[in-house]
Amino acid sequence: MSQADLDAYRLAAIDELESAADKSAIDAWYRKHLSSSGQANQFKRQIGKLPPEERRGFGQAVNEVVKNLQDIYDNRHKESEAAALAQRLAGEKVDVTLPSRQRRRGGLHPLTQTLREIYQVFLGMGFTVYESPHVELDYFNFEALNMPPHHPARDMQDTFYVNESVLLRTHTSAGQIRAMQKLGPGSVRVILPGLCYRNEDVTTRSEMQFHQVEGLLVGPDVRMSDLKGVLLQFARALFGEDQAIRLRGSYFPFTEPSVEVDIRCTLCGGEGCRMCKYTGWLELLGAGLVHPTVLENGGYDATKNRGIAFGMGVERIVLLRHGIKDIRQFFRNDSRFLANFR
Ligand SMILES: [Zn+2]
Repeated sequence: MSQADLDAYRLAAIDELESAADKSAIDAWYRKHLSSSGQANQFKRQIGKLPPEERRGFGQAVNEVVKNLQDIYDNRHKESEAAALAQRLAGEKVDVTLPSRQRRRGGLHPLTQTLREIYQVFLGMGFTVYESPHVELDYFNFEALNMPPHHPARDMQDTFYVNESVLLRTHTSAGQIRAMQKLGPGSVRVILPGLCYRNEDVTTRSEMQFHQVEGLLVGPDVRMSDLKGVLLQFARALFGEDQAIRLRGSYFPFTEPSVEVDIRCTLCGGEGCRMCKYTGWLELLGAGLVHPTVLENGGYDATKNRGIAFGMGVERIVLLRHGIKDIRQFFRNDSRFLANFR
């Protein structure tokens, strides 16, 4: 083992390290040359076999070679770590100029929107919201509203019966008696909103379920002019400040007198068009003075109290406001339809 062998080994090892292509090759080189069993350490084991006068000089030479190889390895190792990091960062790079992913936003259903507006209008006039059951007794839905069994008005309502005396309410009027009995004289100024159910064919104009809002105001000084005032204010809040209403005589079992309330056509403004069948008016809701029998059933002395009541179909109001042609759209959950109301 000579100095020349050592020099030759050093140059060969450096060549080998420089041609190592990647981290695993560099690691393999380290194990082969600089680990405790590596070739550089083989030279250290030779030192003891030399004549004593040569040991010191050869020992220094071996140490210099080992240190030199270790320095070169350290640099090469650092370079390869840096290269690996750069490669990883390149893979994780974010292109901030890419367009963002679209988030689909929900919105309130058009019926909910209009219902909330209706609440606001009546809350502003001192009404409160009174909720009554959807599954109702025949008594509250028909009988207490002046529609005893075999009353012809029952024919107008195809009813879903649960059993002989329990049904799905066919109108929110069913809550009128409940509100009167619960709230007591002098404090009935309520709107009764919610779903109603009728066994009807589903067409563009009728559904088996629909929303109504009923209004009821009872007191000693209540009169027809209150009804006109409340409904005119309501019509103007929903259909515009210049709206007008028209009352036509009609018939409901639970009001006397009864009226149909029209608004001026929202499409032609009263000139006459196809939507209003050239009358200039559109039917908005039904109303009237509460029938004395209904007042008595609610626990009121009909000689000392009067009431106004009105009931509207919420779907119809949304149809009129937005020019929608098909009532079935409301329950189809079609996002293309609903997106128009966000
Ligand atoms: Zn019209």
